[in-house]
Amino acid sequence: HATKKTMADHLRKYESLFTLTPQRMRMIVDAFQDTLDLGLKQPGQVVPMIPTYVFGWPTGEESGDFLALDLGGTNLRVCLVTLKGSGQFEITQSKYRLTEEQKQGDGQALFDFCAECLRTFIEANFDETERQKGINLPLGFTFSYPCSQERIDHGELIRWTKGFGAANTEGRDVAAMFKESLAKYELPITLTALINDTTGTLIASHYVDPSSKIAVIFGTGCNAAYMENIGSIEKLKDLNLPTDAQMAINCEWGAFDSFQHEHLPRTKYDQIVDETSNKPQEQAFEKLISGRYLGEIMRLVICELIDDGVLFLGQETYKLESPYVFETAFLSLMESDPTDELLMIIGIFSHFFAVETTLAERQFFRALARLIGRRAARLSACGIAAIVSKMKYLENLKEGEIIGVGADGSLYNKYPGFADRVHEGLIDVFGDKGKSIVTHHAEDGSGVGSAIIAAMTKIRK
Ligand code: ADP
Repeated sequence: HATKKTMADHLRKYESLFTLTPQRMRMIVDAFQDTLDLGLKQPGQVVPMIPTYVFGWPTGEESGDFLALDLGGTNLRVCLVTLKGSGQFEITQSKYRLTEEQKQGDGQALFDFCAECLRTFIEANFDETERQKGINLPLGFTFSYPCSQERIDHGELIRWTKGFGAANTEGRDVAAMFKESLAKYELPITLTALINDTTGTLIASHYVDPSSKIAVIFGTGCNAAYMENIGSIEKLKDLNLPTDAQMAINCEWGAFDSFQHEHLPRTKYDQIVDETSNKPQEQAFEKLISGRYLGEIMRLVICELIDDGVLFLGQETYKLESPYVFETAFLSLMESDPTDELLMIIGIFSHFFAVETTLAERQFFRALARLIGRRAARLSACGIAAIVSKMKYLENLKEGEIIGVGADGSLYNKYPGFADRVHEGLIDVFGDKGKSIVTHHAEDGSGVGSAIIAAMTKIRK
């Protein structure tokens, strides 16, 4: 007859399931590095390593006025970016909310709406005389859905992600569609670059701080970009580009370990998240890391303990039983609760789920959030380490230099301790040398990056 387990006993089980040892991390980094190499070699790989046609770094001296349009998820953002050289910029922006109808309706109508918002923005930010002089502004379009590109102002949408489904768009050149809408509204704007948010963040980070070599996004999804030597992008060799030049690569690394599931430690909760998602088997790395999933992983553990009669005995728990009701922001709040009684956690469970908690349970929830959040950060560190290792950045580092990593997304910006845990993970992988890899928040990266790329493109032409 077993004695009743305490919450601390239960916690030990989850500790062993969610903890990543340094040794395991190094194995993941090796496999990740091979996957990145393969994506550069052959087209159509699981991690597609998409060439962006952004050639090399900005000088930091790019200057002038540029528009940026950012279509990335819940909002549409229009920005006027004034680049002032010496790594300085100013930004004015407006947000416009997208309706479900626009996301799911006709594609051309969606781009028409973008053009309409641009017109409103121009009317609000430029006076009549400027408009009559015929301001002809270059525009960078940040379009964060996977596109295959052959040049910077073109991109065929491979497939919608993040809940978009507008008709007559997949397989078509979205830059051309958007140009059609610009013409329809007779806007004095030239689309010069179509880019992904990670690429924008990469270029913007480097403009502000030339030590930046990698960009990462940890938001609804997770992804990275970095600058590659063209000679190493084997799949482009028929284009006869200068092999000593560089091009930014959009990794789309959220897909690492999809389908085969050979390398990442997945718990049964991760498997349930995957099987019940709208795209089972896909985005395996992202499903362990990004803001869209962490709350759901925690909810599944809680539901298991409810079913086992460990938690909330005798209470109604149906509110916890719907998928995705437990938000990732709750994990952030639980981890940052400053009170001994854990009053924030009392509030979350009573207000959102109508259940009472004991102190022991609340301590357990906080520890569980820490395990899930820490695993996400350490896996993120593995991805960064794979790029660092592949590019031999540490081998070539001079005394006192650092490797900057521009980062953005709510998980990075709002989850307490996320960045510190990434840094700890990098030291677990590389030892003390890992201290030279430093992440920083790249503010407004996708909009500013879009403007800088538009400026770089203008100069090259
Ligand atoms: P997007 O990636 O769509 O551009 P964000 O970077 O804001 O936008 O990421 C949104 C994701 O971040 C959502 O999945 C949400 O659950 C998560 N999130 C929002 N607030 C927080 C928070 N305080 N802590 C952790 N995650 C959060």
